[in-house]
Amino acid sequence: MMLEPMNPAHSALPPTTALSEDWVGQISALGALLEDEPMARHTTLMVGGAARWYFRPNNRDAAIASMRLLPAHIPLLPLGRGSNMLISDDGFDGLVIDLSELNAIDVDACSVTVEAGARMSRVARQCAEHGLSGCEFMATVPGDMGGGIAMNAGCFAQQVSDTLSQVEVLLSHGDVQTFSADALNISYRHTALPAGSLVLSATFDLHIDHPEQIRERMRNMRMRRSATQPLSQPNCGSVFKNPAGDHAARLIEAAGLKGFTIGGACFSKQHANFIVNEGDASCADIVALIEHAQHLVQQQTGIELEPEVRVISHSAQAMEASQRES
Ligand SMILES: Cc1cc2nc3c(=O)[nH]c(=O)nc-3n(C[C@H](O)[C@H](O)[C@H](O)COP(=O)(O)OP(=O)(O)OC[C@H]3O[C@@H](n4cnc5c(N)ncnc54)[C@H](O)[C@@H]3O)c2cc1C
Repeated sequence: MMLEPMNPAHSALPPTTALSEDWVGQISALGALLEDEPMARHTTLMVGGAARWYFRPNNRDAAIASMRLLPAHIPLLPLGRGSNMLISDDGFDGLVIDLSELNAIDVDACSVTVEAGARMSRVARQCAEHGLSGCEFMATVPGDMGGGIAMNAGCFAQQVSDTLSQVEVLLSHGDVQTFSADALNISYRHTALPAGSLVLSATFDLHIDHPEQIRERMRNMRMRRSATQPLSQPNCGSVFKNPAGDHAARLIEAAGLKGFTIGGACFSKQHANFIVNEGDASCADIVALIEHAQHLVQQQTGIELEPEVRVISHSAQAMEASQRES
């Protein structure tokens, strides 16, 4: 996995001043629009260069209107809590959209409907209060609902897809469509959302249980996590997906990489599938660690470790732009 040079078509983007003033002005009326916003401020690894535009729409209607205004050649990057994101040191030459103002949680008798920007931990707590079980694991995953759906987040033998019934999606050209979970080909840490789209909200079918028992399960999960993971240092959770029948952490440890450091980035001594930022890591340091582990594990075992963390390189940005234009 390489951070590739910027795609020539992509670098041919006109400078801000040459773009139609209209879309920048009109979008900025729909929420908070920042220019050259450092992404290190918005990712739990605390690395990443500047986003050319960082946009937080005021509400759902503003999010829909902004998708209709955004020119198709501008790459779009949906951002939740940035807890599974590794963004290039060169930044993101497009618009990062942060849906944290869309954060309503609507609990019904046996289901919950959640907007994309709601923290998963808040969803889990509210479901517990209403005696609804099935999303306890969300109490321990530090992301928003949109990111959780895009990643099919999971742990402690539960995952988003177990209870997800439908997802409301804002398509790249600004239409809103509801998909049943079955239509999204959800698999381990992957949801096949339409290209260039955003999750707006999702509904989960849950089952009734005693609030105290649900809370007890959530407490146990939190305790197990804090006993085994380096939560006091910047990280992105598991760096690699577990290969079938094995654990990425075991393979990394067996390759002698626990504690191995490049620049400011290090495979945690506490949990080998976590890379921690020891203070001044760059994205390049982390990518170099990822590639080193992939190479060594492949050489020693023949197993190809696949990153779970979403690497936002220039090639990914160029692909995103072409998907929106098609
Ligand atoms: C300490 C720690 C522990 C973790 N433990 C776990 C764990 O146990 N299990 C697990 O699965 N993960 C875990 N993670 C990883 C991460 O928290 C999850 O993947 C989470 O679901 C990401 O949510 P986010 O809001 O931070 O998404 P981001 O990191 O912001 O985004 C992740 C991906 O989702 C996309 N995305 C975000 N929002 C939207 C949207 N509204 N519409 C469409 N796409 C969107 C982004 O473009 C990106 O591709 C952990 C991370 C940390 C730091």
